[in-house]
Amino acid sequence: MKKKIVIAIDGPAASGKSTTAKLLAKKLGYIYIDTGAMYRAFTLKALSENLLESLLVDEALLHQFVANTDVRLSDAQVWLDERDVTADIRSNEVSKFVSKISALKAVREKLSAIQKKLGEAKGVVMDGRDIGTAIFPNAELKIYMMASARERAKRRYAELKAQNADLDVSLDTLEAEIRQRDEEDMNRTVSPLRKADDAVVLDTSSLTVEEQVERIYQLALEKINCSKE
Ligand code: C5P
Repeated sequence: MKKKIVIAIDGPAASGKSTTAKLLAKKLGYIYIDTGAMYRAFTLKALSENLLESLLVDEALLHQFVANTDVRLSDAQVWLDERDVTADIRSNEVSKFVSKISALKAVREKLSAIQKKLGEAKGVVMDGRDIGTAIFPNAELKIYMMASARERAKRRYAELKAQNADLDVSLDTLEAEIRQRDEEDMNRTVSPLRKADDAVVLDTSSLTVEEQVERIYQLALEKINCSKE
């Protein structure tokens, strides 16, 4: 039987991680785990209960909120307290505030524990911001995906437009929001976004999705064929 490995894919917002990771997982017969979706689900709940500001300043409330919030991934779906929030977590509103929630230690502790468990049996492609540095520092393959902020804004714009043709937001605004989110993700105290020392950098600015998948797939095959149990 083939050895299974952990593939950690990190990088800034809208760098193409999830599309690539999903296809790569399919090609390898691995499980894909979107850790950003978990932070987004927490943020959606905080926003819909109008708690965002309070959670940032009230430790007791935060602990209660974290303890009473359940996030689960199943195939392509994201569940928040048993409600399917797969589409709702992709809103621009959630994108705008998710870095505030993901910077909270109590939130990270809860979600990190779930993520570590999900990858325990290996055979996973996990994408996020701290997978190669904090969740699986011993992952057999680490990729750091990046692209220019403009290119990433264009991709996010196309994604949002596909969801809602009447979308009223400019490319410049999206680019500014993406830069702001990266800034917050890179400068938080707990598990900030950074490239792991042993990560392979993949600049996707001028690569097609197929090319991105193929590059990582080849690297994965090398690791699978030489990795020890
Ligand atoms: O990957 P995605 O853009 O959906 O992630 C949304 C947000 O979740 C990120 O901007 C970041 O604040 C947070 N995140 C994180 N750690 C991860 C994955 C996502 O802090 N492992």
